[in-house]
Amino acid sequence: MDVAESPILSRLKIGNRLPTPKGVALEVINLTQREDASNHDIVRMISADPALSARVIKAANVLLTNPSRPIATIADAVTVLGVRALRQLVLGIALIVDYRHGPCKQFNYPHFWTHSLLAGIAAKHLAARARLAVAEEIFVLGLLGNIGQLALATAYPEEYGDVLEQAKGKALDELCRQEQDKFDCDQAELSEAILADMHFPRIFQALVHDFRQPELSKMVEGTREWRLLHLLHVASLLADACLASPSERVKRVAKLRLHAARVAIETDHLIEIGDACVRDWLEWLELLNMKMVHIPQFAELLNQSDAADGAVEVPQWAHAAQANYRMRVLLVEEDRAMLVLLETMLKASGHEVLVARNGVEAMGLVEQHHPQLVITGWTMPQMDGITLCRKLRENPERRNVYVIILTVQESVDRLVEAFEAGADDYLVKPVAQKVFFARLRAAQRVVQLQEELAFDREQLLRFSKDLATSNERLQRLALTDALTELPNRRFAMERLEQEWALSKRGDRTLSCMMVDIDHFKPINDKFGHPAGDEALKLVASTLRQSARTQDVVCRYGGEEFVVICPDTGIDAAYQCAERLRLNVAALKFKNQEAGIRLTISIGVAEKKEGVTSIEKLLNRADECLYAAKQGGRNRTVAEK
Ligand code: GH3
Ligand code: MG
Ligand code: MG
Repeated sequence: MDVAESPILSRLKIGNRLPTPKGVALEVINLTQREDASNHDIVRMISADPALSARVIKAANVLLTNPSRPIATIADAVTVLGVRALRQLVLGIALIVDYRHGPCKQFNYPHFWTHSLLAGIAAKHLAARARLAVAEEIFVLGLLGNIGQLALATAYPEEYGDVLEQAKGKALDELCRQEQDKFDCDQAELSEAILADMHFPRIFQALVHDFRQPELSKMVEGTREWRLLHLLHVASLLADACLASPSERVKRVAKLRLHAARVAIETDHLIEIGDACVRDWLEWLELLNMKMVHIPQFAELLNQSDAADGAVEVPQWAHAAQANYRMRVLLVEEDRAMLVLLETMLKASGHEVLVARNGVEAMGLVEQHHPQLVITGWTMPQMDGITLCRKLRENPERRNVYVIILTVQESVDRLVEAFEAGADDYLVKPVAQKVFFARLRAAQRVVQLQEELAFDREQLLRFSKDLATSNERLQRLALTDALTELPNRRFAMERLEQEWALSKRGDRTLSCMMVDIDHFKPINDKFGHPAGDEALKLVASTLRQSARTQDVVCRYGGEEFVVICPDTGIDAAYQCAERLRLNVAALKFKNQEAGIRLTISIGVAEKKEGVTSIEKLLNRADECLYAAKQGGRNRTVAEK
């Protein structure tokens, strides 16, 4: 399937201004395109240019990931690499040699190639590790990934120089916009077109177009293309980080680490790959007589950037939909890169994040901060993820914490182990972003439901407690006299019934008194109703204080009281009554000067033969009270 050639590509081709290899290299490229060309022809052709052959042989040796024996001749190179990879290698080398310098003053040709070379080498190492593609081919893809920019600079040195001048210090998309304005085409589109023209596979063309800004790509997350795309992006970030000025480098390294973690390249791997890349790269620079650059060890670079993790700008992709419910999340992960990646994504979607590097640290944070969600790695020093899960579940208070465990491979046994330890869910590294946020939403739903449930339960508890208190209060009110705070008549009757029943069952005695204040009406009449109330309260409290603890003093109505005396015979009851009467008579009442004295009359009755009901008992006491009144008041009458 042929795609219509882009107008700028046609213009460049017509003007013969496209970066193309020259001389022998061009002939080799053309030859390898022909169906009838034999390996022998190709070997002969390359060998015709001794400088090219030497470079191809050396480059082929550097390129090989696991050389069983070194490549000594061009014939070996064809056999080991295959025609396609060899062709691409020749192309790359020829371009570097021929375009090491160029007419555009603002374009830094040596920097372009050192960067491209490093990106190519990094892409090769990353692809080899991920077993994603033929690593040698990925090298050329990284190397020529930005060939469009070289083409623009070389074909339009003045105009492109102006564009570079204007876009200086600005982001890549600004540069691309200016390229579009001036040339109707940007570097990414042109790189894609040139690769098409050089007969690179379609997928390579698409990768070259998208890899600088992978977020704009339409490739589907998790697919092989998507992984290759991100791998190229990481390769390019690695070259950015190495070639950045020392002051910029810390930030670039942090960015590299974040993006690397996204394609499951954790810190240890990154150090290993980074150092290998720099080693290979220095060999290439030497091979091509290019200026050497000193790059520190990756372990050191990453260490320096640890402090600057906060400085890394949050990439657009980390902002998945803003969470509508903010969770307190505890991240537990040994690998620094993975930690930063997950932390960045969680924070960008609005969650509160705590981090720990192992289970022991995590348990401390759990006690202190009560996270709602724990996302934990599997293997960690001191305490691993499975043990952490178990520890969390041991404590009933932590039962509701939602736990997601990170695992490297999705093996059934491992997953069963995780669920048995108490995990709620799992995530497989590399963590696909869409899956991550989907799982997070599921966790959020559960956490939210649990919180709501806990809230409802608490409300219900509080409500039922309130109800109990208010019932108790109502009950108390119903049985208490508001003015004197003594039990009321209703209470007195209930209590009498209980005591009646008890005395019957145990054959025990029971007495009761009827108490009435003497000449109370005149008090009201002379001093007013409120003064009468005061007098009533005073008598009531005196009765309460003078009675024995087992006696029950109640207001029976008006200025009358009843005193229930359990287990008390008539004589003892009479003694008690007298004490009440004398204490009241001894009261100092504030209206005493006016010739008023507070006294009471009391009638006492006992439950005995012939007294068959409570009413009868009360009537008898009442009769005695009447007798006391008749007898002159301020006296006690007990029935004989
Ligand atoms: P005695 O019992 O000695 O025969 O004379 P008394 O004046 O006490 O007789 P009576 O039973 O006729 O009067 C009772 C008075 O008690 C009538 C009523 O106004 C008054 N009284 C009843 N309940 C209250 C009350 O809650 N507050 C006040 N201030 N007075 C009350
Ligand atoms: Mg009365
Ligand atoms: Mg009275």
